[in-house]
Amino acid sequence: MATNRQKNIHEKLTEIAGNLWWSWQPEVTSIFRGIDPQRWTQLAHNPVKLLQEFSPEKLEQRAREEGLHSSINRAYRTWREYQEASDTWGSTHAGVLGHRQIAYFSAEFGIHESLPIYSGGLGVLAGDHLKSASDLGIPAVGVGLLYSEGYFSQRIDKNGWQEQDYAKIDSDSLPLRHAADPHGKPVVISVDTRGGKIFAQVWRVEVGRVSLYLLDTNIPDNSEEDRQLTARLYGGDQRIRVRQEVMLGVGGVRALTALGIRPRVVHMNEGHSAFAPLEIIRQRMHDDGMSFDDALRDVRSSCVFTTHTPVAAGHDRFDCGLVEEHVGPLADQIGLNAEGLMGLGRVDPQNSHETFCMTVLAFKLSRLANAVSSLHGVVSRRMWAGLWPWRSEEEIPIGHITNGVHVPTWLAAQMRNIYDRVLPQNWFLRSGEPQVWAGFEQVTPSELWETHQALKNRLIVYARRKLVEQGERRGASAAHMRAFSEALDPTKLTVGFARRFAPYKRADLLLRELDRLRDFINDAACPIQFVFAGKAHPRDDAGKEILQRVFQLTQEDDFIGKVVLLEDYDINLGRHLVQGVDVWLNNPRRPLEASGTSGQKVVLNGGLNCSILDGWWAEAFDGQNGFAIGSGRSHVDDAVQDARDAEQLFEVLTNEVIPLYYDRDTDELPQAWIKRMKRAVRTLGWRFNADRMVMDYVQESYVPAAGGLSCKIVPMP
Ligand SMILES: *Cc1c(COP(=O)(O)O)cnc(C)c1O
Repeated sequence: MATNRQKNIHEKLTEIAGNLWWSWQPEVTSIFRGIDPQRWTQLAHNPVKLLQEFSPEKLEQRAREEGLHSSINRAYRTWREYQEASDTWGSTHAGVLGHRQIAYFSAEFGIHESLPIYSGGLGVLAGDHLKSASDLGIPAVGVGLLYSEGYFSQRIDKNGWQEQDYAKIDSDSLPLRHAADPHGKPVVISVDTRGGKIFAQVWRVEVGRVSLYLLDTNIPDNSEEDRQLTARLYGGDQRIRVRQEVMLGVGGVRALTALGIRPRVVHMNEGHSAFAPLEIIRQRMHDDGMSFDDALRDVRSSCVFTTHTPVAAGHDRFDCGLVEEHVGPLADQIGLNAEGLMGLGRVDPQNSHETFCMTVLAFKLSRLANAVSSLHGVVSRRMWAGLWPWRSEEEIPIGHITNGVHVPTWLAAQMRNIYDRVLPQNWFLRSGEPQVWAGFEQVTPSELWETHQALKNRLIVYARRKLVEQGERRGASAAHMRAFSEALDPTKLTVGFARRFAPYKRADLLLRELDRLRDFINDAACPIQFVFAGKAHPRDDAGKEILQRVFQLTQEDDFIGKVVLLEDYDINLGRHLVQGVDVWLNNPRRPLEASGTSGQKVVLNGGLNCSILDGWWAEAFDGQNGFAIGSGRSHVDDAVQDARDAEQLFEVLTNEVIPLYYDRDTDELPQAWIKRMKRAVRTLGWRFNADRMVMDYVQESYVPAAGGLSCKIVPMP
């Protein structure tokens, strides 16, 4: 307590800004915003940078002017209590894990927009996983790469073509620290390749109670080429990719060893990190004198794997030469010859025509494997049946744990006030339990609607500002600039569509019937407006062409200001969108969406999903908690499926979504619509959140892999 009193508010806030915990505390965010709203926006919500601009005296003065003292002290107390809490869910349900940690390996982590080491859903999922692990008190560490230029930021030129900007991240203005070994020495590790060693330093980022370790090859020990190895996420060719993955898997394990961390369970989030178990096998053989077979059996029993890709071509594959060059030295040490090594990455080890597949390696080196939704489980069991040729499809050992989103991260502060009032006290500590959410039915319709409208207005203000900036940069005409500054109308049905512009996600499905779309948008009584956002992969020209078509539409007279495209989809833009739209549209080519999570963020904030019955929505839709496009059919011919789905999309909009939205009572409230909003929150909130997801991982995956017996608890209805 003594140190507590001695700390001034600059020190308190600096301590808070040094842990990404702040990013899911709306009270803390509003303190940073309150200090200087304009700088907060200009600095892209980076509190470390903000505090660097204030001396303790100047901050003291600002806090006095703005009356921030008591909220700063309260936030600091909450932060301290969070750090010190011992009665967590994990302490009662994951005791068998003891003090040894779960090591969660992922090529990307999306925690906050100020740390751009994610490209999309996979990374945001990993970030949400760590946050929930922290909240639940699960002993865990994350392992990833620090991309010094991050993922790109997107600009769209006046022809609608995507340009990529890579900006160097500045480690001094992020909560990054050099990770130190037990003697306090900064950790540098190396991995061996046929061409020599590649070195990496290790950074530590605190995510609540969880530490995330990030490897970074940009150090003088490396050649110029290797210094660039971790510069960009998914930015390189196959050779860079295999080298990044060796660094993530092998280097990641070596970093943990150097830090004195011996994980109890290794969780591979997607196949990128599948070399990790090989390095642990090497260590066991070396340290404990085990044979390869014994070490393999032992290590495998504590590794678990989550597959994310239902597209056959989406799995990382490397040819023999690349694997031998980068993993050969490790294979030598564990007594595997070239064929033995390649065999681990092949469905049929003897088939010399098969390339080395990271997903196959991960399956072969893990005890438990899971897909990320129920439907994705079916698809994955079919896709990988060849690995277990003696089993029938239903018996293929790939289960599923459906993805969820971290509630405090994605729930708008205004909506949270409602939750705080109608749900039980400390509801956010028990968000995986259905009965906790039942109280949402008590919200009065007008209050829910007004809150939703306020959030929608906030989205519109934000969108206009972005549209004006974009228009200025492209030199738009005065008429267009006016349209941007008045874009979108808060009284209109507002549909959001934001995700990677991968062709299977079909951002252009609506555009197949332009005349109908034009009629919808310009309907005098019941108009719809659309907000699009999303990046195409830098080397995906088909995705960029779809983006270009959407862009061109947004510039046409009939559509301008009514169909808008916001550049540079990231966590910040995502937050505005999922909190402000009426409807979230998702129309992937079934069954290619493994799970999808953005629609879950929308649910929490009172938006309704209108989606193909794919990914999570296939197990979530109950007829009244949103809308379904079609009935869950697929067709082997993409063209047939696309035409059919487009037709059904227009049908559901015409027959269900639009009439329900514009059906108002005498107070102008859409009562039936609001009923659906409530039902969505109540029936979906408890299931599709990251606490429930992490609890499932603990009970179905981590505890068994740690040698305990599964203790799945079925919540009472
Ligand atoms: C949630 C999120 C995603 C993932 O959404 P999908 O539904 O899987 O497309 C991607 N990008 C960002 C920035 C997100 O916040």
